[in-house]
Amino acid sequence: MVSGKKGCGIGSPTVLLTPLLCCCRCARMTYNHYAQINVTFRFFNKNTNIKPYFVNLFTTKTERIARKFAQMYLFERCVSDVFFVVVIRHASIRNVTMEVYMSEVFYLEGVVQHYDWGGHYFIPELLGKEATAQPTAELWLGVHSKGMGVLRDNQMTLADYLASHGMALPFLLKVLDVRASLSIQVHPDKLQAEQGFARENHAGVALTAAHRNYKDDNHKPEVMVALTPCVLLYGFSEVAQIIQRCQPWPSLHWLVTALQQDPLSAVYRRVMALPADELEATLAPLLRALLPLWRAGELSGRSHLFWLARAASEHGAEACRDPGLLALLMMNLVHVQPGEAIFQPARLPHAYLHGCNVELMANSDNVLRGGLTSKHVDVNELLAVVDVVPVTPLPVAQQALTPGVTRYQLPTDEFHLLRLSCHGGGTLPVLPAVGIALNIGEACVVQLAKRDYPLQQGESVLLPAGQSVVVSGESVDLFVAW
Ligand SMILES: [Zn+2]
Repeated sequence: MVSGKKGCGIGSPTVLLTPLLCCCRCARMTYNHYAQINVTFRFFNKNTNIKPYFVNLFTTKTERIARKFAQMYLFERCVSDVFFVVVIRHASIRNVTMEVYMSEVFYLEGVVQHYDWGGHYFIPELLGKEATAQPTAELWLGVHSKGMGVLRDNQMTLADYLASHGMALPFLLKVLDVRASLSIQVHPDKLQAEQGFARENHAGVALTAAHRNYKDDNHKPEVMVALTPCVLLYGFSEVAQIIQRCQPWPSLHWLVTALQQDPLSAVYRRVMALPADELEATLAPLLRALLPLWRAGELSGRSHLFWLARAASEHGAEACRDPGLLALLMMNLVHVQPGEAIFQPARLPHAYLHGCNVELMANSDNVLRGGLTSKHVDVNELLAVVDVVPVTPLPVAQQALTPGVTRYQLPTDEFHLLRLSCHGGGTLPVLPAVGIALNIGEACVVQLAKRDYPLQQGESVLLPAGQSVVVSGESVDLFVAW
């Protein structure tokens, strides 16, 4: 029996497999037994009239059928229909699995987001555009409804294109330029997201409402790779470290006592629910002492106090009412050097404070905020989601695959990330699913099926699954996510 499998690569069309067993009446065939697979492609959009085709035949998942045992005939019946015949010319070959791909690379257009905390230069320069007075915080490459990518050549949305070929993109790839600190935030796990999304839908909270917590039903693990030196808050510190940080400041002594008596989770709960007058009595004396030191440049960027003062200055008079400043003292301050990566699992509180990075995450926008923000903070929901346990921040391990190609070893199967960084170029590993390549280096050339696709700095392309892609250039620096 001959079985068909719909290819998961770029442009893999609807594949109609009609297994036929032919006899040896065909004069051109010299074998007595062979199987013939007929495949019809139907293009949903005539703009995607793509060639050539790329076919893999397997007897098992990994055992590829040698070309000498298979012959392929291609017939184009009209613009949108292609008829394909594959003849297996060996009596012992059975249970054939077929993957069909079209060998094409698509240029992508991402979406920039102009959030207040963004920088002015990094992303415009990456994209070869003029900097403006408006900050540019993020570049999004993916299918999220808040920032849908499009295929540059026909302006088809990436979601429409992928859906019409039975594919999906489970991740969102971003470039971030963090000038001012982001809010402390935590993302739910999958079950929490599903339940929270259903609960808010049931309660009739509009998706666009400012107090809506769950925008979708997905979790949002994320990894960040620093492009410049980056600073972030990452999970809770050990209790002894927090006490050491707070001890020198008389207005924080109640916090020290609380930490000595109660579990960390109880203290965090108390901090986040502190009445406004108590919060101000705690923070105002601290800020009166710190802000002049910070303005005079007398605080080290390695200390929590520097970032606390900086965040307070960003939030002005509101700062004294922000429990996030106390939460900041309870969290790990992490410096990530260019090329290093850090992974934020579900339920881990974190906040980017400074630096430019590439970020890859599950396709979700579920954020619960925990301070350093003027946006909606739902303390009860935050406390239900956040894991209040000390963690030790560790960089993501990196594995050298081939010369110039490094894979980030992520603790998730949801998305994958590698970087090709070298002089001259290299070969990317064959992707098992459709991917996105983003060029953050100099101009290079992506080669697929003997065709060249020049890629300028800042440009990105959709890469097909199942095929060998070679990249060449003087100084190649490419991120590939799938
Ligand atoms: Zn996050």
